[in-house]
Amino acid sequence: SSLQQELIASIRNIADYPKPGIMFRDITTLLGNPRAFRRAIDELVHPFAGTKIDKVAGVEARGFIMGGAMAHQMSAGFVPIRKKGKLPHDTVRIAYSLEYGVDEMEMHRDAIKPGEKVILVDDLIATGGTAEGATKLLQQMGADIVAACFIIDLPELGGRKKIEALGVKVLTLIEFD
Ligand code: 5GP
Repeated sequence: SSLQQELIASIRNIADYPKPGIMFRDITTLLGNPRAFRRAIDELVHPFAGTKIDKVAGVEARGFIMGGAMAHQMSAGFVPIRKKGKLPHDTVRIAYSLEYGVDEMEMHRDAIKPGEKVILVDDLIATGGTAEGATKLLQQMGADIVAACFIIDLPELGGRKKIEALGVKVLTLIEFD
């Protein structure tokens, strides 16, 4: 679609970042483009018009930027899911797999009440390890995850299927090989 073409054109591709052989999809150029940023957020929010969303949960750090905009538009609260050690109050923590090794992410224990309707958001889904960790953390706290949203899907890496296997709908706007 023309929206997809506009979003693709607004993303900067950086070869060999962060390591040789990786093509990094840099969304700072999308965020810096007033029309592309608005249209991306509108497209992610639109399917949930008429659905009461309690919280948008964003994954550090690019998920914060998108999640803040989405939460405002949806009149929802915002919940940060952070790298371990950054949040000041009682947290729940989960290990998640990265391409090489594992890391841990956490959220405040009181950030979500059981049964609350939550949208999870990050900029990009690749292997799905990050989103799987965030999904499990939210589900442990009793969240009803209405969908997981991403601007970019790298379908060859299988992340979407990993999240759908947890019973969560996945919404993405564009794909790259
Ligand atoms: P996954 O856990 O699905 O393998 O990787 C997704 C996570 O890594 C997301 O938090 C995403 O922000 C980050 N990520 C991996 N590759 C890229 C990329 O090419 N561009 C951007 N913007 N983020 C990436």
